[in-house]
Amino acid sequence: MFAKVIVDIDNAQVDKTFEYSVPGDMCVSIGQRVLIPFAGKQVEGIVLDLEENNDYDIDKIKSISALREEYPIITAEQIELAIEIKDYYRITLISALHLMYPKVLSGKKYSEKKKRYAVLAADPEAIFSSLLTKKGNIRSEGQCRVVERIIKDGSVLYNSDNASYIKSLERKGFITVITKNVPRMPFASDDAVKSRNIILNKDQENAVETILESNDKYYLLHGVTGSGKTEVYLRVIKDVLSKGKTAILLVPEISLTPQTYYYFADNLGYEIAVMHSGMSDGQRLDEWIKILNGEAKLVIGARSAIFAPLSNIGIIIIDEEHEESYKADNYPRFRAHDIARLRCSHFDSKLVLASATPSVTTYYEAISGGLKLIEMTRRVCDVDMPDVKIVDMREELKNGNTSMISYELKTSIEESLKMGKQNMLFLNRRGYSTRLYCKSCGYVFKCDACDSALIYHKDENLLKCHYCGRTKTIPEKCPVCGKMFLKQLGDGTQKIVESVEELFPHARTLRMDLDSMSRRDAYIDLFREFSEHKADILIGTQMIAKGFDFPDLHLSAVISADSMLGFGGYKSTERAFTHMLQVAGRAGRASKGKVIIQTFSPGHYAVRAASHHDYREFYEKEIAMRRLMHLPPFANLITISFSGREEANVIGAVKDYLKNLSKVYKRYPDAFYKVSARAADIKRIDNIYRYLIIISLKSDSKNDIIDEIVQLFKQSDYNGVMLGFDKE
Ligand code: ADP
Ligand code: ZN
Repeated sequence: MFAKVIVDIDNAQVDKTFEYSVPGDMCVSIGQRVLIPFAGKQVEGIVLDLEENNDYDIDKIKSISALREEYPIITAEQIELAIEIKDYYRITLISALHLMYPKVLSGKKYSEKKKRYAVLAADPEAIFSSLLTKKGNIRSEGQCRVVERIIKDGSVLYNSDNASYIKSLERKGFITVITKNVPRMPFASDDAVKSRNIILNKDQENAVETILESNDKYYLLHGVTGSGKTEVYLRVIKDVLSKGKTAILLVPEISLTPQTYYYFADNLGYEIAVMHSGMSDGQRLDEWIKILNGEAKLVIGARSAIFAPLSNIGIIIIDEEHEESYKADNYPRFRAHDIARLRCSHFDSKLVLASATPSVTTYYEAISGGLKLIEMTRRVCDVDMPDVKIVDMREELKNGNTSMISYELKTSIEESLKMGKQNMLFLNRRGYSTRLYCKSCGYVFKCDACDSALIYHKDENLLKCHYCGRTKTIPEKCPVCGKMFLKQLGDGTQKIVESVEELFPHARTLRMDLDSMSRRDAYIDLFREFSEHKADILIGTQMIAKGFDFPDLHLSAVISADSMLGFGGYKSTERAFTHMLQVAGRAGRASKGKVIIQTFSPGHYAVRAASHHDYREFYEKEIAMRRLMHLPPFANLITISFSGREEANVIGAVKDYLKNLSKVYKRYPDAFYKVSARAADIKRIDNIYRYLIIISLKSDSKNDIIDEIVQLFKQSDYNGVMLGFDKE
């Protein structure tokens, strides 16, 4: 027996399989990791194929030294997928394969190590009373903590920190130490929402039936916020699993995973695995093994869950498909949608993209017949969409209100609080102020390493760079003119919290942004607190606008629509519209609610369409603009990014690349709309200079042209300059 093995070295020169013989007493399968002699060393590799015979000189061929594990770590279908990804994103096969299994495994052997856990062996009351002195003081804080943890999580992992407490509790007979492979639950299971018996409405019934029964492969489920899409996913997935197949449900944010997980855990009746970036390595491995050995039938997770080692996939659902988190932010910059399509073709399974605000490109594809469009136009139980009020902030200024909270917003919060309802304020800027400047000379405090203003964080009384994370203490006087007139400009979430607390001293506020989520699972607690109505006003960034279903939420507000419009490339309008509609979508789910959008440009088409909850109105305007400007979906955009420490080298590389590109252009002048080169929006981040070349090709341009451009990219080798490649 002979094995074709790819070595675990990410280098174009070894980007092919090598032949090894399999020792007679070794049992090896495709997808298994092995150790092999390679260039004088023992290296790790993955078996991609096996064959009985080969043409090599039998005496010269080396043999596999050892197996890493007893079983394959990836499936044959994942190998096929990796080969396709290699071609599609122009990367080495081994780096494509790395997407297929958890990083924890790289260079390590996975063994189901048995760990020691402490569990209760006595009545908690009895334990606690013995841990108290007669006067009621705690005898051992450490022991109390251990017992509390066991009560909360069911068990506690024995480690060097808690060993002494566990030993003494064990001696007293309060706890027992067991040795087993206790699964590391990604979410504590006692938080489950209780299941309800839901009868589908007409729209939902139609959606479920269409997806299950029609012959189409790809679907777009366009359902307004609160139309009950999750219930549709549940029914569809249940049906697919009942036929012995498996399913993937992608959600955009880790913060959404628990909510969705409970919804399914309570109602599905099949084993579920969860995959997201907030999990510990151990949890990730447990879940992954559960999928690999066929125990878990449904995988719920963020972007990377699209690579889950499931077999026999029957359906893939991408919830909130418009979310940008579905696109990888480092190379290869794959988009979950594209991977989903590849896997769908391997298994002949279906793909459902779903959203209240589909991406313009997806909607265009549906309109043009590439996706079957299913619409759900009403909220469940026929609750009306909330009224949306646009507040013109120019008028507020004229009337002397310089704060970020308009009169209309203030009175609306008042009313909502009086009704005992909840409120949500959305602002896409964390921190306290947006910048600090000197009123005397106009100097703006900037990051030393980035071309960006520092943001004042009142919590820690620091200036922070939101790009590289560097911090600075606040000087007493301006470093340029020496005067003491420092002034803050613009409001962030911390400032809004402060203003709200001043205006409504009795309301309970909660802030949810990157800074308030220091712990890995802080979002679960914040989310629970708000959904249990333990707070009245939730203030936060993007993350509060996504998919949450809070029945008591009456009022939601966009503090500043303008801070989203017109920044960050051609998708900024779409992004702003989506945020506005999603924020609007949180309000008034159980009974009619209210939405306020504050803006300095009340006439903007995105603002107007959002105020009517009218996706189609926005889409028609936006798609016409895209057509006119030769932007996706009417063009293929290829972005080559150049970055490096020496700006001159980076610019030199850009110029050189343009020279090479012009040769391609001369051969196919009709294929190009436009080539442009410029510095990135933030030119310097963490002392790295960044430039872009953006190539806009006609959407029917042949693959050979893209190939040639990519070849230029691969051949380019510039001193100290990194290249990145992205196509959309
Ligand atoms: P969407 O994802 O479309 O915004 P959700 O799936 O969050 O909406 O559903 C909103 C709420 O409506 C959820 O609490 C869900 O349990 C409930 N729901 C869904 N379908 C029905 C139904 N047919 N009857 C009653 N309640 C429903
Ligand atoms: Zn910085």
